[in-house]
Amino acid sequence: MRDRSLSSQPYAGLRLLAVHAHPDDEASKGAATSAKYAALGARVMVLTMTGGEAGDILNPALEQTPAAVRDIAGLRRDEMAEAARLLGIEHAWAGYVDSGLPDGDPDELTPRGSFYRVPVEVSARTVVSVLRRFRPHVMTTYDERGGYPHPDHIRTHDVSMIAVEQAGMAGTNPELGEPWTVQKVYYNQDLSAHKFLRIHERMLEQGLESPFEEQLEWLTQRDEERHTWLTARVPCSEYFDIRDRALIAHATQIDPQGGFFFGPRAEARRLWKSEEFELAVDHTGREPLDREQNFLESDLFVGVTDDDGDAVPDGLMPEAVDTDATGTEDAVTEDVVTVGAASRETPAEAPEEAR
Ligand SMILES: [Zn+2]
Repeated sequence: MRDRSLSSQPYAGLRLLAVHAHPDDEASKGAATSAKYAALGARVMVLTMTGGEAGDILNPALEQTPAAVRDIAGLRRDEMAEAARLLGIEHAWAGYVDSGLPDGDPDELTPRGSFYRVPVEVSARTVVSVLRRFRPHVMTTYDERGGYPHPDHIRTHDVSMIAVEQAGMAGTNPELGEPWTVQKVYYNQDLSAHKFLRIHERMLEQGLESPFEEQLEWLTQRDEERHTWLTARVPCSEYFDIRDRALIAHATQIDPQGGFFFGPRAEARRLWKSEEFELAVDHTGREPLDREQNFLESDLFVGVTDDDGDAVPDGLMPEAVDTDATGTEDAVTEDVVTVGAASRETPAEAPEEAR
């Protein structure tokens, strides 16, 4: 039995699959966590369901370049490759076509042949195949509302949850490989209302103007509609620079001169030093966690059995390095709260790059 706590690569032999809808989602949801696990020895793979062909070009500097005009898909593949390199992760494309963000009923308005229109039992096969080949111990995806209500995000949830179930069933799609049971599935909850409300409050406490003011009403409403359980918070602020560089690598999707990226986001990273995940499936065999409590875990692999049959112990995830020179309280160690009025979900006005 190996003592992982003695290793500089404590997550060696462990595998994490992060399923995302578009190229750039991997850089805005759980990105610092991916980079951290990769740096600490885990194999991390991002599976991107669509090519992001329908994404608007949000960077005026690139809007009229030949590549952007003639081959947006090719441009986004190159951006994705660079983001993967920066994050230190492996990457796979599922190969579906971006459904776009229609103004109305996606069943009517998404293009024929796009990811949203492909029957889930068909697209789930692609994910089953990746699961059985890569054999992740832990998978992340979006919650049933997509985290962000884009048709491709909602469909990514549906497909990945069906696939994770089918991948473990012997006799189901045997042509796609040997059965593989993913031990834990988490939803990305990086954009939780809980987080943005706390950042908002802290900015006010410090006499700063908060950019989140107008989102509060929406946040409260979302909380009433869906209880979001922030099961795990992974301390990862030392990887925020890498995350931001990966996001900037998606140059078509980011206006480097524009609003959210250098204003509110910079504040948020100073005041909140972790990424959050909601436990959705747990096959580790441990006692069920208390769904009324947030922040019960700091490591997505806790309790997982590795390929040698050893369980990953608690306490492996090193504490976040507090890089905040202003002396702001460390957001990682506080905020252990009972879920209730303080727990809310995705802000309505998600930043452009988070889509
Ligand atoms: Zn997206």
